[in-house]
Amino acid sequence: MELAYSPQEEEFRARLREWLAKALPALPPKPSPDDWPGRRAYDLGWQRTLYDAGYADVHWDASPTTRLIFLEETEKAGAPYVGAGFVGLLHAGPTIAAEGTAGQRARWLPPILRGEEVWCQGFSEPDAGSDLASLRTRARRDGDEYVVSGSKIWTSHAEVADWCELLVRTDGDAPKHRGISWLAMPMDAPGVTVRPLRTLAGSTEFAEVFLDEVRVPVANRVGDENDGWRVTMVTLSFERGTAFVGEVVACRRVLAEIAREARANGRWDDSGVRRRLGRLNAEFRALWRLTQWNVSEGEASGGVPGVGGSVFKLRYSRVRQELYEVAAEVLGVGALDLGRPWVLDRLSSLSYTIAAGTSEIQRNIVGERILGLPKG
Ligand SMILES: Cc1cc2nc3c(=O)[nH]c(=O)nc-3n(C[C@H](O)[C@H](O)[C@H](O)COP(=O)(O)OP(=O)(O)OC[C@H]3O[C@@H](n4cnc5c(N)ncnc54)[C@H](O)[C@@H]3O)c2cc1C
Repeated sequence: MELAYSPQEEEFRARLREWLAKALPALPPKPSPDDWPGRRAYDLGWQRTLYDAGYADVHWDASPTTRLIFLEETEKAGAPYVGAGFVGLLHAGPTIAAEGTAGQRARWLPPILRGEEVWCQGFSEPDAGSDLASLRTRARRDGDEYVVSGSKIWTSHAEVADWCELLVRTDGDAPKHRGISWLAMPMDAPGVTVRPLRTLAGSTEFAEVFLDEVRVPVANRVGDENDGWRVTMVTLSFERGTAFVGEVVACRRVLAEIAREARANGRWDDSGVRRRLGRLNAEFRALWRLTQWNVSEGEASGGVPGVGGSVFKLRYSRVRQELYEVAAEVLGVGALDLGRPWVLDRLSSLSYTIAAGTSEIQRNIVGERILGLPKG
């Protein structure tokens, strides 16, 4: 299977490359990982640069193949990734584009594209992660507003977000998948409290979010009342679609760097290390092919990614962990030094088999929806 690029797509690639070569040297220096206001400004600034150059809407308006080319070329050139714009550009934005009313699209999409507003994802709760549909955050209707109370957890970028794509229970008596609604909640609304959580790698990427009688206009609901589960499936299909393309390109670069380091420090003489590096190279090539296959499928199905994203996520998250395990072996005692390259990445790679749906859940999806196995 080979993804064929049309002359127009190759032209897009060439034009993008040329533009990146001029735009990247003009970028300001990257802020430190814990400087959240700085990171927000940097990430939004990059999005604004893309907007001014006509590339801002590539994540949702372009065909999956054009999006693949964009993500591949920007990563190869060392351009910034979406960063704090992740939820807006890759989850909430595409969901609103697909499911929102004309008014909602006009209100929320332009600020995301222009790099003006940050979104976060308020899905998980302390007792609703894998079993997301058992979420308990309540939304009581009061005239033309919902009054929302409950709590969310692991909300990435909540500290710097303007909006939250929030799942709430609007009907406590309906079967659990049928009583959920998808709301856009302003993070500065009275009653919203954000408490940052520190990760194993030391940063505060995500937070707990407490909601105490927060008033959200009914007009902020995307999709029908109690139809939020279907809308959520649209959001999650984007999350597991092309969202990791840039990371695969980056991993292939890191693999080459690890091999260079092994040659330089003598670890290359160990045939076990060479075998692991060779196998990882084959794994990443296969993942790249799988990405292209998923993109072809997405193209055929009108742009919405399918369950192939779960196959990809399942293998990619594990292979990424293996990459940094071999990096630690190559570094030897240096792997205990947090200042060395790859050491913090190794710690954060542990979260990959959990975030965006655990590996066990991806296996359930693959088993039920691709292999047709009975539900356990
Ligand atoms: C880095 C990171 C960023 C995140 N960002 C966000 C965010 O921005 N917004 C957000 O809403 N959430 C976010 N999450 C939360 C993430 O979606 C959840 O952690 C994930 O869905 C798992 O839920 P849980 O942690 O409650 O684990 P649980 O669901 O409690 O699972 C515990 C264990 O049981 C297993 N298990 C559970 N059910 C089954 C089953 N049916 N079959 C087999 N095994 C099962 C799981 O695989 C896991 O090993 C983030 C998580 C991480 C790690």
